[in-house]
Amino acid sequence: MKIGILGAGISGLSIGKMLSKQHDVELLERHSIHGGIARTKTVEGVAYHPVGGHCFNSKYPDVMDFVFNEILPKDSWHQVQRNAVIKLRGEEVSYPIEYAIQQIHEFAPELAIDITRDFLSAEDDKVYENLEDWFRKKFGNTLAENYFIPYNSKIWNRPPSEMSPAWVDGKLPIPNKESFFKGLISNESDKMPHASFYYPDTNNQNTFIDKLAEGLTILTDFTVNTIEKKAKKWLINGEKEFDLVISTLPLNILPHLIKDTPHEVLNAADKLRYNKVTTMFWETEETERTWTYIPESYNFFHRYIHIGSFFKPKKNYSMSEVVGEKTREEMIENGKKDSFLKRPIDYNVSEHAYVVFDENYDSATTTVKKYLQDIGLHTLGRFGEWQYYNMDVCIKSSLDLAQKINLA
Ligand SMILES: Cc1cc2nc3c(=O)[nH]c(=O)nc-3n(C[C@H](O)[C@H](O)[C@H](O)COP(=O)(O)OP(=O)(O)OC[C@H]3O[C@@H](n4cnc5c(N)ncnc54)[C@H](O)[C@@H]3O)c2cc1C
Repeated sequence: MKIGILGAGISGLSIGKMLSKQHDVELLERHSIHGGIARTKTVEGVAYHPVGGHCFNSKYPDVMDFVFNEILPKDSWHQVQRNAVIKLRGEEVSYPIEYAIQQIHEFAPELAIDITRDFLSAEDDKVYENLEDWFRKKFGNTLAENYFIPYNSKIWNRPPSEMSPAWVDGKLPIPNKESFFKGLISNESDKMPHASFYYPDTNNQNTFIDKLAEGLTILTDFTVNTIEKKAKKWLINGEKEFDLVISTLPLNILPHLIKDTPHEVLNAADKLRYNKVTTMFWETEETERTWTYIPESYNFFHRYIHIGSFFKPKKNYSMSEVVGEKTREEMIENGKKDSFLKRPIDYNVSEHAYVVFDENYDSATTTVKKYLQDIGLHTLGRFGEWQYYNMDVCIKSSLDLAQKINLA
């Protein structure tokens, strides 16, 4: 088959790599280079992530096999232990917070006692009105009010009371009462896949991305504007013809590019909400941390990614991130609140960064995806599937789709 893949981010590149073994595959990418939002940019000789920090790991064995056996061998990566902290009342406590109650007790004993009492007495009836309700029932009121609700208000740019809890499933470590209690009396910690992660030995994630792209036919500077089905063939921009098309383009945009999409589908697509992320790249003081969460509102950054700690040897560089659009001046001014951030170096505002799980999420995604399925157009990836996907889940989804296409 002649297969067209729209977009050359991690998803497009991964499925391209898998399908090109058996098919004639071409990727169409609007930017002048492949990699999408995971691509790094090199400034002052240091590769940083303009669309927020990235690290790689996966709970899926087939993803690890694909990455280490087919793309970049395991001995070209180094493993980094997560050393993440949360800034709380001017102090740093380790992440995840549910296991840091002993540390909190050292500077805020009443808070630690309130967290413990509320966690152990929280009642989870598994019926959640919204995301705020989910946090309260899972973690108790004190932890919800001091960490989860303020932090999530920042990363979603809206109150959790206006959001669906759909995205959190599998994304957060949720201790039960027994493991929370063990955390109080021992050094028990979480078992999340990102407790350690891999980073290329070149100290640049593009090494992995470029390996993914190696050998693929990628047409860059090609913006997909129209998609049409004519006599069982797909026609892109009236010039490129394919037997099968896989789109990784954002689900809110794709239906508008397809000829004769029904109004109800276009209306559903227009209901899909997403956020941008603004990042500033800094030279910093020395740190052993890998990243820092900032739930409190005095500082509008929600997270620092200490990218220099992903490197071997370490360097003193970090990115600060805020959801939404900020000017360079606003970013620099806010950075002055923390002397850790010594010198601003580079600045970026993304396009799509996070999909938003609001009250329209379920019905709008269902309507758009059903339409795409009916017309036989595959949609894939973080924005193609309109999901909170990390790179590894994009690769997993690509593996599954490639298998489905090859079996059909
Ligand atoms: C702040 C942040 C932090 C993250 N951290 C991590 C992390 O630590 N670990 C991890 O594994 N994942 C992380 N992720 C997720 C990861 O970035 C994504 O899962 C992955 O990069 C998505 O790849 P994709 O190919 O699905 O989408 P994209 O990268 O968006 O690729 C889509 C491609 O389509 C192209 N395109 C769009 N419109 C058109 C058009 N009309 N014509 C042609 N081409 C078009 C785009 O230019 C782009 O190249 C993070 C994401 C964000 C936002």
